[in-house]
Amino acid sequence: MTTIKMAVIPGDGIGKEVMQEALKVVKCVQERDSSLQITTMVFPWSSDYYLAHGRMMPEDALETLQKYDAILFGAIGDARVPDDVTVWELIMPIRKNFQQYVNFRPIKSLPGISSPLAGGNDIDFVIFRENAEGEYSDSGGRLYQQQPQEMTIQNTIMTRIGIEKIVRAACEYAQQHGKTKLTSATKSNAIIHSMKFWDEHTRKTVTQIAPELQLEAIYIDALVAYFVERPQEFEVVVASNLFGDILSDLGSAIVGGLGLSPSANLNPEKTFPSMFEPVHGSAPDIAGKGIANPIAQIWSLALLLGHQGRKDLEHLIVQAISKVLEEGVVKTADIGGQATTAQMGDAICQEIIHMT
Ligand code: ATP
Ligand code: MG
Repeated sequence: MTTIKMAVIPGDGIGKEVMQEALKVVKCVQERDSSLQITTMVFPWSSDYYLAHGRMMPEDALETLQKYDAILFGAIGDARVPDDVTVWELIMPIRKNFQQYVNFRPIKSLPGISSPLAGGNDIDFVIFRENAEGEYSDSGGRLYQQQPQEMTIQNTIMTRIGIEKIVRAACEYAQQHGKTKLTSATKSNAIIHSMKFWDEHTRKTVTQIAPELQLEAIYIDALVAYFVERPQEFEVVVASNLFGDILSDLGSAIVGGLGLSPSANLNPEKTFPSMFEPVHGSAPDIAGKGIANPIAQIWSLALLLGHQGRKDLEHLIVQAISKVLEEGVVKTADIGGQATTAQMGDAICQEIIHMT
């Protein structure tokens, strides 16, 4: 028997719409597998909540969330609330307090989905982006304001422990999934302090815990070109916060776009709950129309189940998604069809229940 206590934060816009489909999938996975017991609690923390209460989530939100095994998150963003409020008052506190230092993204071709790349099928790799330090820091500032020598300094902060932890997570994934190669994104020829440090500790960590892995360090400028020219060659990619951010959006683009791309913010030690969310945002341009693609959200749920030890169910859900896309009858507008969000959710559920 697997029991999972899942906190659900649908958020704004299409977040609410695609989450409904993920919750449908929770139901039908349990219908298929009686050894699985998922309890869900939905929290209405969102921009509407902010407009009513003056904050994105209650003061004790983190304490509340900590009682759950995992968090399934939709999307947040609303024209009536500044972006820095939605991000810094909801997503960031969860990521930081729960030490979700790994941002994990599978980059995988799906049947029936055309890649913008010629011959862009058979892409199947994962990205481990460092999620807690690096280039995204608030260290720095402005000097000599309003003077001719006005300048800014933006510091990158990388710690040995931070690098070791993200590289360890990538290595362990590689070992558990029979991968043979780890690609590290670098720029140590030009960013000579932080990136040399990144290279050094990446190499040390790999030598220590996964010496059997082939480690290649590739300069980021070349790496983005390889993502386009020969993406099939990658297995596991590890990158700092900024490089990982760019690579993962590029990765999602080469396999068919935002509506299909899941992500996980992981605390590998499982001291705190991890959070699973689609890569896309609240998509105000299509919100309320019932046409958003729920696959990214449903796949995020699959990653959650995998992280909770049910890789079998993760594979089952991904297989069901592939099946529906392969048949090609039910497709939402973003991937060239006319199906609604609910029809896509239903089709995936049917596959899950009936797949042999
Ligand atoms: P936010 O500020 O919340 O990130 P955004 O305006 O950046 O919102 P995204 O959600 O990032 O919008 O989406 C960018 C584009 O991709 C939009 O045109 C949106 O409609 C489309 N899109 C995103 N997610 C989906 C989806 N699940 N299904 C269909 N189209 C999507
Ligand atoms: Mg966006």
